[in-house]
Amino acid sequence: MALHGNLIVSIEECKGCGLCVEACPPKVLHLTQQLNHCGYHTVEYTGQGCTGCGICFYVCPEPGALAVYRLAA
Ligand code: SF4
Ligand code: SF4
Repeated sequence: MALHGNLIVSIEECKGCGLCVEACPPKVLHLTQQLNHCGYHTVEYTGQGCTGCGICFYVCPEPGALAVYRLAA
């Protein structure tokens, strides 16, 4: 059974370091051209393919930037 997840990004907490983009196994994250109030390019979830593994959450230096949800299949 495939795992399904969802990711909510708190744009204003993200500092655009890109660690989550590099660490995400299915590569479903990318940095956008959008700037938050601190002037950082923020990360965005493509909207599909997240497994809910949580790796992005654990590598992110900002505790409030990412929320990962593991969905019941
Ligand atoms: S929970 Fe896993 S699959 Fe989903 S965005 Fe984060 S690193 Fe990628
Ligand atoms: S690791 Fe955190 S701070 Fe860095 S780009 Fe991803 S969400 Fe933003």
